[in-house]
Amino acid sequence: MQESVMQRMWDSAHLSGGNAAYVEELYELYLHDPNAVPEEWRTYFQKLPTDGSAATDVSHSTVRDHFVLLAKNQRRAQPVSAGSVSSEHEKKQVEVLRMIQAYRMRGHQAARLDPLGLWQRPVPADLSINHYGLTDADLDTTFRTGGLYIGKEEASLREIHQALQHTYCHTIGAEFTHIVDSEQRSWFQQRLESVRGRPQFSAEVQSHLLERLTAAEGLEKYLGTKYPGTKRFGLEGGESLIPLLDEVIQRSGAYGTKEIVIGMAHRGRLNVLVNTFGKNPRDLFDEFEGKKTEGLSSGDVKYHQGFSSNVMTAGGEVHLALAFNPSHLEIVSPVVEGSVRARQDRRSDVAGEKVLPISIHGDAAFAGQGVVMETFQMSQTRGYKTGGTIHIVINNQVGFTTSRAEDSRSTEYCTDVAKMIQAPIFHVNGDDPEAVLFVTQLAVDYRMQYKRDVVIDLVCYRRRGHNEADEPNGTQPLMYQQISKQRTTRELYAEALTTAVSHSTDDVQFKIDEYRTALDNGQHVVKSLVKEPNKELFVDWRPYLGHAWTARHDTRFDLKTLQDLSNKLMEVPEGFVVQRQVAKILEDRHKMAAGALPINWGYAETMAYATLLFEGHPIRMTGQDIGRGTFSHRHAALHNQKDGSTYLPLQNLYEGQPRFDLYDSFLSEEAVLAFEYGYATTKPNSLVIWEAQFGDFANGAQVVFDQFISSGEHKWGRLCGLTMLLPHGYEGQGPEHSSARLERYLQLCAEHNMQVCVPTTPAQIYHLLRRQVIRPLRKPLVVLTPKSLLRHKLAISTLEDLAEGSFQTVIPEVDAIDAKKVDRLILCSGKVYYDLLEKRRNEGREDIAIVRIEQLYPFPEDDLTEVLATYKSLKHIVWCQEEPMNQGAWYCSQHHMRRVATAHKKTLFLEYAGREASAAPACGYASLHAEQQAKLLQDAFTV
Ligand code: AMP
Repeated sequence: MQESVMQRMWDSAHLSGGNAAYVEELYELYLHDPNAVPEEWRTYFQKLPTDGSAATDVSHSTVRDHFVLLAKNQRRAQPVSAGSVSSEHEKKQVEVLRMIQAYRMRGHQAARLDPLGLWQRPVPADLSINHYGLTDADLDTTFRTGGLYIGKEEASLREIHQALQHTYCHTIGAEFTHIVDSEQRSWFQQRLESVRGRPQFSAEVQSHLLERLTAAEGLEKYLGTKYPGTKRFGLEGGESLIPLLDEVIQRSGAYGTKEIVIGMAHRGRLNVLVNTFGKNPRDLFDEFEGKKTEGLSSGDVKYHQGFSSNVMTAGGEVHLALAFNPSHLEIVSPVVEGSVRARQDRRSDVAGEKVLPISIHGDAAFAGQGVVMETFQMSQTRGYKTGGTIHIVINNQVGFTTSRAEDSRSTEYCTDVAKMIQAPIFHVNGDDPEAVLFVTQLAVDYRMQYKRDVVIDLVCYRRRGHNEADEPNGTQPLMYQQISKQRTTRELYAEALTTAVSHSTDDVQFKIDEYRTALDNGQHVVKSLVKEPNKELFVDWRPYLGHAWTARHDTRFDLKTLQDLSNKLMEVPEGFVVQRQVAKILEDRHKMAAGALPINWGYAETMAYATLLFEGHPIRMTGQDIGRGTFSHRHAALHNQKDGSTYLPLQNLYEGQPRFDLYDSFLSEEAVLAFEYGYATTKPNSLVIWEAQFGDFANGAQVVFDQFISSGEHKWGRLCGLTMLLPHGYEGQGPEHSSARLERYLQLCAEHNMQVCVPTTPAQIYHLLRRQVIRPLRKPLVVLTPKSLLRHKLAISTLEDLAEGSFQTVIPEVDAIDAKKVDRLILCSGKVYYDLLEKRRNEGREDIAIVRIEQLYPFPEDDLTEVLATYKSLKHIVWCQEEPMNQGAWYCSQHHMRRVATAHKKTLFLEYAGREASAAPACGYASLHAEQQAKLLQDAFTV
């Protein structure tokens, strides 16, 4: 073990040179706090022989000798050039190394991060030389630098201390020592220390920085003058965001990135739209003047708008997409991730080199919203990773919900949540644009090299309060007294450049005038904007536009090919041992393909996927236990009983087939569903499915349904073909997991915004899933899927149903009942149908017909009218549901049924048979459940 650790240490580049010193340094740390060193080192130090003195620790020379001996054995040893230093000097040397380590760990706590200078933070004691028993008298003594990257092996204490101060305590606060991987930590040390936290930028770069700041400030001033008092959530105070974004785009473009997707809340959004995306200022002015610019029924406010454009970078053209955003903060982050993953999948960009996500956050929301944690948690998982996200926090130091920072979080920084995935975090003073530029370069380089998330905490302020109509002095008097005196970032930087004589005041004024003139003329203000964008860089959505839900579609599939595909699915690789019950399911499927067994749900669903793949449609399925299916009906992923390896038959249908991606999700609904929404709104040719473990799990993702799935098309013109499978059914299992809360989805339905279906046969789910992709209409599809029906003896179909049928929005009576004798028609959806059917058959009733409504929205009034037409003698029409009266479809769908009923016969009055209104979705007592169920069936026959 020790040797392997040593080998690794030797092998890591950062050790070359100062290795013995490094070990000593570790040893010092170990003595100070054994938990501060990696476990392997702790074990190593613990096992060292003691020198027999009363002291429990080992002398440094023992450690060093031991280490050198070990290293010699590795034939790569660099003997320590300790020379003839006195032991007093040696002790101080150790202290110096400890101090270096302390700066790396805690230097950020002494950095000047707040542009307003109001933060009051005690400087950590261990950043002072005195803490280590060193004094001013030692300042000119030479010490080994021990791995400090300042380009020399030895330096005076003064130089070492100054280098540490500049690197770690200036306007950048770097947090990276929480990263476990020592190579990454060394990478940061090298990058930061070698330039002492401040690289020299050329006059050209400085001029560009100033130009970007002028643009950022210029737009806000212009809007403030032209539309005084209008809410715009201006960027004032955080102008450095614009050069920051510019650098991310340009630098990642140079790396070969082809697409960047950005998510951000409202603050600074208009500025980003105009100054980063190149939105025509004239279009923005139109929005300020309240003109309706898009043909959307709802539309959205200007600071929620998305945008797309292409810009030129050193690596070629880059497509930029700004995600549309609701007011619910942070929820757009997983949407961006999903959109990025879709683009990466489209480009077969497995490593995440071609598409980059950027998430821009507010400080309060970053600390407060749970979805931030969920999104971090998914960042390295197989199904959701995107090769690292660049997070930017526009840190105004105050949220809209509290007046004091200590009320808004319990962590030191608003960014501490990012440490859970060991993301490096750079706090940077927004009034130091060169420091901002430097950390941006680090962040991009780190993301490109390590493919992991990184956070830039842009510490700034909001000059005008929460928005332009706000009076911030009421709640933050001291902060706003300071802000009223604070010169803008551009003014400060312009002054710094003119003082340094790299710029003249004329240059500065020229930039201001040039920008203003461009706005006056309504011209684009992004110089790198590509006027004729390369359309290859993004998807053409035109084939999916302008279709009605009633458009005809053909979901039939050749029977022979279906059977061939089915047989192919039964094949498993040589030596692959399938578990006994799963083998039985496969065997049964084999019989179903041969027509020897009726088709069940699992088979039909699997064949929907197989046939779609055969026809060239990629499929992505994620969700909780989705591979198996919560109720064990799917088994789309097979697990080898010998070695635990996994095999997905649907990935192995034929050479060159489309992608079939299937991932069991981690235990999140909100972030995962938002991710899939982002994916589906970016990849229209795919069937994208999310499955909840039980339907009510989707409650945790309500914001995604409300603000994206149900309304995205009407607010933003963004189509989405996402399919959600929500297990639903009253099986006597109690208040949880019985109901998928059908009523919630129906209540969200209007303007044909989405589809809500409750299929009851295997053939129905088969055709429904096929319809979702084959029909060019892209509308979200909520499917209430069954539990007990998966194995119900009556819930079966035939091969011909799959080969020849189609999805029926309404299923008429299936038994040979004479329509003339029918005076009672029961309408229903879902599992209760089979209970009603069995009851009627048992009772031998011929006066009752049962009709299933399989699509509750858009409600198929025409199809129902057609079915009703056969029944001329109707006296009763009843809606029967298992759900309580205040739930299920009763309140949301009855007007459709009434309309059809009264059109059929004026005197026909729609009646209700179902559970009484109830606070909980279902009861917890099995006997009560059975009683209620029997009563509602009886009611359907008698009310
Ligand atoms: P993007 O790559 O997201 O910038 O999209 C490029 C263009 O495709 C947009 O400007 C839209 O015109 C169109 N588009 C993208 N996503 C959708 C969608 N979900 N629905 C309709 N059109 C879309």
